[in-house]
Amino acid sequence: MFACPVYCIHPSPDEPDFATTEMLYIDPDACVDCGACVRACPVDAIYPDTQLPAQQLPFIEINKSYYPKRPEGVKLPPTSKLAPILPAAEVHRRGKYPLTVAIVGSGPAAMYAADELLTQPGVLVNVFEKLPTPYGLVRAGVAPDHQHTKLATKLFDEISWRRGFNFFLNVEVGNHLRHADLLEYHHAVLYASGALHDRRLEIDGMGLPGTGTATEVVGWYNGHPEFTDLPVDLGHERVVIVGNGNVALDVARILTADPDKLAGTDIADNALAVLRDSRVQEVVIVARRGPIASAFTLPELVGLTQAAEVVLDAEDHARVRNDLATVRDTFTRQKLEILAKLGSVDSASARSTKPRIRFAYELTPARVLGEERATAVEFTVTGTDELRRLEAGLVLTSIGYHGTPIADLPFDDAAGVVPNEGGRVVDPVTGQPVPGAYVSGWIKRGTNGFIGTNKSDSLKTIQSLVADYNAGQLSEPIGGPRAVARMVHARRPEVIDAAGWKAIDRAEIARGQAQNRPRVKFTRVPDMLDEVADHSDVPLLQNLLSALRRR
Ligand code: NAP
Repeated sequence: MFACPVYCIHPSPDEPDFATTEMLYIDPDACVDCGACVRACPVDAIYPDTQLPAQQLPFIEINKSYYPKRPEGVKLPPTSKLAPILPAAEVHRRGKYPLTVAIVGSGPAAMYAADELLTQPGVLVNVFEKLPTPYGLVRAGVAPDHQHTKLATKLFDEISWRRGFNFFLNVEVGNHLRHADLLEYHHAVLYASGALHDRRLEIDGMGLPGTGTATEVVGWYNGHPEFTDLPVDLGHERVVIVGNGNVALDVARILTADPDKLAGTDIADNALAVLRDSRVQEVVIVARRGPIASAFTLPELVGLTQAAEVVLDAEDHARVRNDLATVRDTFTRQKLEILAKLGSVDSASARSTKPRIRFAYELTPARVLGEERATAVEFTVTGTDELRRLEAGLVLTSIGYHGTPIADLPFDDAAGVVPNEGGRVVDPVTGQPVPGAYVSGWIKRGTNGFIGTNKSDSLKTIQSLVADYNAGQLSEPIGGPRAVARMVHARRPEVIDAAGWKAIDRAEIARGQAQNRPRVKFTRVPDMLDEVADHSDVPLLQNLLSALRRR
């Protein structure tokens, strides 16, 4: 957006729609085809309209429809404004040590915060991550068929190579180290640890074999070590997913995808083997409200309908028609128009042998049926006593994430966030800031938004943090960079640094090259640690380099 010389990408951060928009729109009339945004986009997400991949062609109309019609020759829409470039938070060095910040977590919110801090000369950033591999949900959450989105890791790699950046991977804050330990050695501790847990549906039968959550399945197919052994039984005809947010769509798309296509991605090998043997014919995505309240976003719906056969039954087609008659906002109308064009369940006889996806609406989950394992889900038609049953061998809930408390920090359990003002952690009893503690990302604002949302979110937190530092409100660390490293090694001898991560990364990419895949992931922590140990020659050089950099 900032790269565009004619301000034709909207909504910009100063426009009201920015907070709620599902995508950014390029104005085809105002665009001068200079290609600046194509070059600037870190994940190669922008294409000239003439080079759009076939499955993205619907976006030409979607982009256009965002902008008002204007008289011939008038290029810019009347509301067009310059997107403000928020100034970098300027650090005024004080005290013995340069501004030193611990960041807990290594996903997008963490890496964008590090990026922002490292715009300032001399600043030191230590990133602590529980797993031996960094980048949070970009590695373990983004679906394997969305390799473009995963290109964000290229940007994160570049940030991690900058002077002043250090990884402390395989270290769990709250277990190996406490908040107070970090605060002793840093001016500030910024938590960008996300919302680790999915919300659970409390109905009878959840917990039976054959039940689980969509986010566990996401971890499983993405090779997250905590989910490698998840028992995912696809030896049945139907999977039911409760909830229709983007996570539900991701899981439905992967469960119905052609395994030969997935074989070209970085999907976990164990998951691919199970998908190859799958007998699933239909994945039903069930919502308790109507089509107008669908939680998925427009770009994800477009992606789903391009990737799979998606159908509705006659009752739901009627609901879509009713909603279309009343809908007011453009974004929701566009989603309903796509739903209205979907095929019908009853055309099943004509359907191919490929598994399909069905959206079902106004069904409130009541209980999971089954003795030894799940065999069906019973729903009430929302707002009535009428029962409906869907046979299913796998029942997944996908009803959102919820933040979990962070050791030694206050927590707002209802909202699932750490209470904060502009990223400064605030004690809800006294209303005062907790000195040196900051938050960014999902644990700050709740579980919403996209990868890019974290950029402006983290920038705002860093502005608060730097203002406090400049005002002399943050305590000096008790030692310099080498003292931090000594303390961490003493508490967690298995700590992995940037060189160790590079060894894992290189090995995964090399394993992938042999199979024409972007990478073949290690899915078990001991295998990752073995890889780091086997390449101790690489760390030697890199350790020397990082020691030199730390001086
Ligand atoms: P979500 O978007 O919040 O959707 C949650 C769904 O669960 C809604 O359909 C909600 O229905 C339903 N639900 C909640 N409580 C329920 C209950 N007790 N019974 C039945 N249904 C219930 O959650 P998500 O899919 O986990 O996504 C989380 C965030 O990650 C979102 O911001 C999403 O956009 C983002 N994300 C983005 C991408 C992407 O851009 N590709 C991919 C994955 C995730 P109601 O609306 O009726 O409450």
